[in-house]
Amino acid sequence: MIKKRYILNFPPDSGDKAFTYHLVKDYDIRINILKAEVFPGKSGSLLLELQGKKENIEKGVEYIQSHKIVCESLDKRIHFQSEKCIDCGNCTAVCFAGALTMDKQSWNLNFNKEKCVVCELCIPACPLKLFRIDFQ
Ligand code: SF4
Ligand code: SF4
Repeated sequence: MIKKRYILNFPPDSGDKAFTYHLVKDYDIRINILKAEVFPGKSGSLLLELQGKKENIEKGVEYIQSHKIVCESLDKRIHFQSEKCIDCGNCTAVCFAGALTMDKQSWNLNFNKEKCVVCELCIPACPLKLFRIDFQ
């Protein structure tokens, strides 16, 4: 069993395909939807975590791609040197995923790795260069 994250981008004409149903039923894949921005008739995106046998996940991704959905693997993560952070808050302004937020009580930076979509925008935003990409 492996666990992998993917970003799916839907074109406006991808329709209402029940692809999540097929991933579960036909490929025995467990799906965790981490973020969703899908609007009927418009383009949209989904951040998914897929868990299952490696070969099943590969077949499931092929199935998704055969329906004009762009499926990009997230095989990298953000590494954060939290101990050097001065809590200036710069990085929170660019983190649309909400992974970087300021604690309203202490005004310390919180980093929620589970919400990170590895957009890399925080890397240039931090004046102390505390973020970098780790490849898995
Ligand atoms: S990579 Fe993007 S989503 Fe992740 S913490 Fe940085 S700005 Fe936020
Ligand atoms: S920009 Fe850098 S120093 Fe400032 S809060 Fe974010 S991680 Fe900390």
